[in-house]
Amino acid sequence: MAATSRLPLEFDAQSLSTVSRRDFVRVCTMAAAAVGLGPLAAERFVEAAANGLRPSVIWLQFQECTGCTESLLRASHPAIDTLLFDLISLDYHETLFAAAGHQAEAALKQAMAANAGKYVCIVEGAIPTKDNGIYCMIGGRTALDIVQDVAGKAGAIIAIGSCASWGGVPSADPNPTGAVGAHAVLKGKTVVNIPGCPANPYNLLGTVLQYATYGTLPELDAENRPKFAYGSTIHEHCPRRAHFDAGRFAKKFGDEGHRLGYCLYELGCKGPATHANCSVQHFGDVVDAWPIGLGHPCFGCTEQKIAFRVPLHTTVEIDRPTPPDTYPPIHAVQGGVSPIATGVAGAILGGLAGAGYVASRKLTPVASDEPPKSPEV
Ligand code: SF4
Repeated sequence: MAATSRLPLEFDAQSLSTVSRRDFVRVCTMAAAAVGLGPLAAERFVEAAANGLRPSVIWLQFQECTGCTESLLRASHPAIDTLLFDLISLDYHETLFAAAGHQAEAALKQAMAANAGKYVCIVEGAIPTKDNGIYCMIGGRTALDIVQDVAGKAGAIIAIGSCASWGGVPSADPNPTGAVGAHAVLKGKTVVNIPGCPANPYNLLGTVLQYATYGTLPELDAENRPKFAYGSTIHEHCPRRAHFDAGRFAKKFGDEGHRLGYCLYELGCKGPATHANCSVQHFGDVVDAWPIGLGHPCFGCTEQKIAFRVPLHTTVEIDRPTPPDTYPPIHAVQGGVSPIATGVAGAILGGLAGAGYVASRKLTPVASDEPPKSPEV
């Protein structure tokens, strides 16, 4: 970790304001867009930050790999870690703190007391419950005790990453420590789950800023995930979707279809059953920096019933077979889709013949150089 990312025990955010106003507004706009809010919200975010209204954030870490924190720090255009310190007051974070031991414990108590009932508690990592939670202890206290204490006095609670959302890797069979997500040990509390392995930092930032600026949380789905990010499946907005509809699949890693960017369904892609916005919100501010963009099938990391439970190369049922109407037509070089091609897609769908029909309608010969329409996001 870069030394510049480390915080002193007490720090002055103003001294870290090394980014231009333009970059600052850009990140606020991206964060607002991430939560489905318009440019007006971005303006409100900027205004609130300029007036020193930075929400106090207490970030807890338990059974995890620190991947979610690392992902947050890897955004680079501009450096989101620097911008974060202008947008939020990160009052406790074990990885980023220069303080350790008693100093760190004192900082946690101080932050909790100063902003009781108002701070945002972010939980990273699963919580072990077996044998009274002894498998994860910090400062002599179990993770179970800490999360119930800190989250219990927070204004909002966010579980970042799959481990904190539903147990993630530590909860994989046989789950020797009884690892669970934060919501399972915070009965009666609203815990916003932002799963992902790692979670996308803009989904987190947008949620925190909405809470700080408007005092509200985003609309949540049945798994308590913000609908703005988890309302659609990867498959619905996948750039390889046209190949799926045309029945063009990579059969093995490195084959011609794989090199040509064909659909990865037959290699075990879980995109059709995975709700997340990775296909439109890439990682580290790098275009195509997400699994399918890099040629790997989606692993289903945002879904409790898939990641670390369904084998990597096992195919999943198709949840929503019909392509969105806005999807661009395929410019098939052969001049049109053959019934065989659509038939392959139909066979893969296992009886979901409607998709093949819709695909046929969308596959048109290349008539001109007219650029395809962008998919709706
Ligand atoms: Fe994309 Fe996977 Fe769907 Fe193929 S199966 S279109 S690679 S999400």
